[in-house]
Amino acid sequence: MTPYKRTATRSLTPIAEVYEKAISAETFTQTRRDSPYLHVLHLPDDRHRRDAETGEVIGHGETYELAVRDPLTLTEHESEYYPTSSIRELTGSFRLERVLDQVLSRAENDNLPVYKEIHTLRPAHWSDAASWVSCPSCASGSGTIALITDLDADGATFACRECDARIDESDQQRMFNDWLHCPSCNSGDINVECSAPLGSVWWSCDDCLYDTHPAPADLAYGDAREEIPQPTSSANGWQG
Ligand SMILES: [Zn+2]
Ligand SMILES: [Zn+2]
Repeated sequence: MTPYKRTATRSLTPIAEVYEKAISAETFTQTRRDSPYLHVLHLPDDRHRRDAETGEVIGHGETYELAVRDPLTLTEHESEYYPTSSIRELTGSFRLERVLDQVLSRAENDNLPVYKEIHTLRPAHWSDAASWVSCPSCASGSGTIALITDLDADGATFACRECDARIDESDQQRMFNDWLHCPSCNSGDINVECSAPLGSVWWSCDDCLYDTHPAPADLAYGDAREEIPQPTSSANGWQG
């Protein structure tokens, strides 16, 4: 079983508004502890999937699924406790607008509350090789690059310890174009957070919202996923 990890969280409300899907405020729930609920999941790594009902091709990074989940409880896994919410039913794949239609009809027909957040899930090992910054002169890995900030002067620069390349403060745009790149969408619109006193560095992308903030693995999703039928190979020759 591949464990999946939450790598971004988005509020469902403004997205439903953009698509003009009228999910009433009373339908949303903030808590996942009280009753079964509907949960929209985003699976950006499922690149070659099709709509579960129409067979329509789903674009790169645009796969969503809809889960009916049991209330959240703490369960033990390898002698640690994790918040777990079992999945009773998992449907998909759908693109975003289609998954919102499913949410509306399931909420109404089954009288289920909708959890207000969309979770993006990625295979837990996905971020192991992820690189957010590299030196454009020598293509060194992130291990040899220092972020230098002068907090007084409100400036931040990168310097490469390998080849001494650095950006001066007059050339900040190069930092976003040449040095920084989201491992998910390649955007340079990146935030770096340092978490004192633990000494960790967290990265996040403003464009696709991928982040490395600590988040629990979604163990139940990994289990449920094995139950979803995969698209048949006979569909491969069909171009959408
Ligand atoms: Zn370098
Ligand atoms: Zn990104």
